[in-house]
Amino acid sequence: MQHQVALGIDIGGTHLRVARVRGPEIEARASAASSSDPQEVVARCRALIDEIHTPEVAAIGIGIPGQVDTEARRAISGGFVDLSGVDLVAEIEAATGLPVVIENDATMALMAEAAFGAAHRVQNAVMLTIGTGIGGAILERGRVLRGVRAAGQLGHIVVAPNGRPCLCGRVGCLETTSSGTALAALVAEAGLPAGTRIEDLLVRSDRTARAVMRAWAAPLRRAIDSLISILNPDLVVIGGGLGPAAVAALETVPEAKGWYHAPVLAATLGDEAGVIGAARAALVGAAGTKTAVLVNGVPASGKSQVARALAEATGWPILGLDAIKAPFLAALPPGDRQFNRTLGRASYDAIFDTIAAAPPGSSFIVDAWFGFQPVEVLEAGLTRAGVGRCAELWCRAPPETIGARYQARIPSRHHGHPGAEYVPELVELAGNAKPTGLAPHLDIETTGPLDLTRVTGWLGEVL
Ligand SMILES: [Zn+2]
Repeated sequence: MQHQVALGIDIGGTHLRVARVRGPEIEARASAASSSDPQEVVARCRALIDEIHTPEVAAIGIGIPGQVDTEARRAISGGFVDLSGVDLVAEIEAATGLPVVIENDATMALMAEAAFGAAHRVQNAVMLTIGTGIGGAILERGRVLRGVRAAGQLGHIVVAPNGRPCLCGRVGCLETTSSGTALAALVAEAGLPAGTRIEDLLVRSDRTARAVMRAWAAPLRRAIDSLISILNPDLVVIGGGLGPAAVAALETVPEAKGWYHAPVLAATLGDEAGVIGAARAALVGAAGTKTAVLVNGVPASGKSQVARALAEATGWPILGLDAIKAPFLAALPPGDRQFNRTLGRASYDAIFDTIAAAPPGSSFIVDAWFGFQPVEVLEAGLTRAGVGRCAELWCRAPPETIGARYQARIPSRHHGHPGAEYVPELVELAGNAKPTGLAPHLDIETTGPLDLTRVTGWLGEVL
């Protein structure tokens, strides 16, 4: 399930970039000039795909500028490149036979920064990509914030009510004051040489240069201050071609003091974030991949507490083997250990059936002692359920502690569970038990307090 290969495509106003990506590593690249003719963009993308495609490639992700309806898999709007009139997904799927995922380009960049870059190990982040225009994306509790359909178009926050008209139809959007295009306009108005960059302005101390810098950076600062108040993120990441320069320029416009604060950092993956994020999104979203976090450990290893804390943090539902078994144990006459095992196997099936019936993209926390069945049964269950992303939290404690915990809870357990006679066997099991080995695993010692930030950070890394 890990280290699959995908193609990431970043459709920009200047360049079309395609990369073959394995994890965070780019194995091959191809690029071409962009075009304002959507059919030409599709044709050039197909040619670039042909250049670096290999049989290993499992899926294709495409980041495009403008509003994207990810469910309908169509562009809703665009600027210089407007793909709302073409069925890009159908054309690329037909040409390659591979599943295609599309997203807004800034969302792709944020996915890459969250997985491998500046927003690594962070659950709540805001991204602004500053280039010809300004894109944006929001990560809330590790998930892309979408609103009704296409939330996060942060270039269209109104910062100058009496400013310039924007291509979105409003007046004074951030994109009209603080994009690369806006900078060129400010430079021209001030009589500075065409092509003057932020870096050039930063080293000048004259009044004209400072005024241009301020006119460009101050609205950006206002937008960021507002975003921080609205979203209370862990951090704000500034990417795109002008990202690093913008972070430097913001230093000249101090943050307004207020209740809310968040660090503003430059993106670390640079121009590659778009293709890396697109490839990652392709693997995550391909063929409706679902996510399962296996909370594993022998009975009384502290799994349920870990599962509950993770559910609180992520909002993902828990499917617990014991919880499914409990009503049957209560309703049926007392049985022997064999009967208990039969119920366990049926409950195991119920878990995979439930995940299989869930919509594409669903995520689940599965709380069970997975060692009670051969690992092949688990593997087949996950495949049947459509789980493509999987990680394991391995809950453990000293065997004696586990034995004592089990002993202590016997009086409150259903009669169907083994009693005190099972404790020596459990202590021995706890000494030998191991993770399933089917997915990357994180050891969690359950005798101390749970470090949930470590757990969610690690999950963000491996899923
Ligand atoms: Zn606008």
